[in-house]
Amino acid sequence: MNPPVPSHLSRFLDQDKALACVHCGLCLSVCPTYLETGNENNSPRGRIYLMRALQDGRVPLRNAVVHHIDLCLGCRACEVACPSGVQYGELLEATRDHIEKCHTRSAFQKILRRIVIERVFPFPWRLKLALLPANLIRRFRCEWLLPSFARDALALLPDAMDATVLPEISPAATEPRRGRVGFISGCVMSVMFGRTNQSSVRLLNLAGYEVVTPPRQVCCGALYAHAGNLRRARACARRNIRVFEKLDVDAIIINAAGCGSTLKEYGQLLHANPKWAERGARFSAKVKDLVEWLAPLKSLPRARAPDPSLPATYHDACHLAHAQRITEPPRKLLRTLVGDRWIALPESDLCCGSAGSYNLTEPEMARRLRDRKVQNILKTGARTVVTTNPGCILQIQAGLRQAGAGHIRVVHLADFLVESLREATPGA
Ligand code: SF4
Ligand code: SF4
Repeated sequence: MNPPVPSHLSRFLDQDKALACVHCGLCLSVCPTYLETGNENNSPRGRIYLMRALQDGRVPLRNAVVHHIDLCLGCRACEVACPSGVQYGELLEATRDHIEKCHTRSAFQKILRRIVIERVFPFPWRLKLALLPANLIRRFRCEWLLPSFARDALALLPDAMDATVLPEISPAATEPRRGRVGFISGCVMSVMFGRTNQSSVRLLNLAGYEVVTPPRQVCCGALYAHAGNLRRARACARRNIRVFEKLDVDAIIINAAGCGSTLKEYGQLLHANPKWAERGARFSAKVKDLVEWLAPLKSLPRARAPDPSLPATYHDACHLAHAQRITEPPRKLLRTLVGDRWIALPESDLCCGSAGSYNLTEPEMARRLRDRKVQNILKTGARTVVTTNPGCILQIQAGLRQAGAGHIRVVHLADFLVESLREATPGA
């Protein structure tokens, strides 16, 4: 039983934003959890109703209500469909923050959320350390010793992990240089996808940019914001703003869609303090996803994708397609590489179930959505699935392996571009 909610915590939603929902229901058909369950409480409209009822004290903060909010992926497909401009992501983060302050979770959920997700994932060296036993278990094939939830989590890890620390300065490959950009190396990206970070910096260098990767940057805060800890998310935002304000850069580039959407919302995240809100908005205005930055450039070397990679298809990461509304630039880049050997993916923008740490906290729904994504991929006959977010890569690759289709590669667009360049010009 939860203790009564203290009065100073009971108004967690911006009332005007919460009332913007007019219950039209146009968002229902794009909501993955509603599509899977058919339960109105698992729809955007139903959840907003629950959030408002919680705030008004019309429903108590019970497990059943928390479950409907927990089951939300935060994929923000509902925002794109909503004609009233409801800022669902903001309402969700405020509600989750309220839940974590006022609701008593089970011991297992506390360990998972407060320790694994909040105290390990955002710190690259802790994550590396935590992955050591996981790698040993996989090497000696001892997975059978683990409980099923731990086996599922282990199955998400990539075959090869390459932790890489990028140099602080990576010079442009052209003379004179076109400009100078900052780079966010990410927590999970720098531990599990070091090669993708290197590919991203390589592409920027080839396009004429000097790349600065400040070593004092920290987690973007997305993991905290999604887990309902806005205090820590704001601390991360303030630290990154201080670090990048010192650099004279044209843009701040990120290659992970989930981080990008949080970085682009620092102004809103820090809205309670006008000075920080202004600094946050200035920082966010410079943030660009890698594909958004590269797609318009004419100077990026072009090549054809190697034949074994084809045909290829593209999966929209939710936080690129819905939160950042970027759908065409990655397709444009991909089309230059694969030409007509491109196959559209059915339900390409329906969440794959990864959703940050969702596949750890809500494994059953995550599995259902993963299997749905895999079935759609198998229908295309593609040999490569290209995407732009580390969580999606891990989730979809695990699903394909599970379905006996591990030969289908899931690859970040940055790596796909660099591989094509190497194929065309060895040594590039
Ligand atoms: S964020 Fe995604 S899962 Fe959550 S209500 Fe909106 S569409 Fe549904
Ligand atoms: S589309 Fe927007 S206004 Fe309509 S029910 Fe969904 S969230 Fe509410």
